[in-house]
Amino acid sequence: MTLKARCHCGATQLEVTEAPKEVTSCNCTFCSKRGALHAYYTPAQFKLTTARDRVSTYQWNSYIGQHHHCAICGCSTYSEFPSFDSGKPDFEHPRISVNARLFEDFDLAAVPVKHVNGRNDW
Ligand SMILES: [Zn+2]
Repeated sequence: MTLKARCHCGATQLEVTEAPKEVTSCNCTFCSKRGALHAYYTPAQFKLTTARDRVSTYQWNSYIGQHHHCAICGCSTYSEFPSFDSGKPDFEHPRISVNARLFEDFDLAAVPVKHVNGRNDW
């Protein structure tokens, strides 16, 4: 089931192939300030449906990840980074985390929130 997400102004819209079964709250210095809840996808499960030039990008620390936000309204939209499933960055298996707060027609309160300790791990 395709799930759509959009930022506040609608300049950034995207689709994913399925609804998340859980979302992740990270306490790293960046996530704790911007307040996104993450839903993880592979690039094949993700499609940006609006123009890429509406997407603004923030990078910090190791510059491994690209954290995107809407250039117009400022909402955190999605991030691109290598998989960390093995504990180290795996550039062969990129991941996309979508800000689950942007999903349309989705009951965010109905899925569990997993808390990860990003402050100490990276
Ligand atoms: Zn926007």
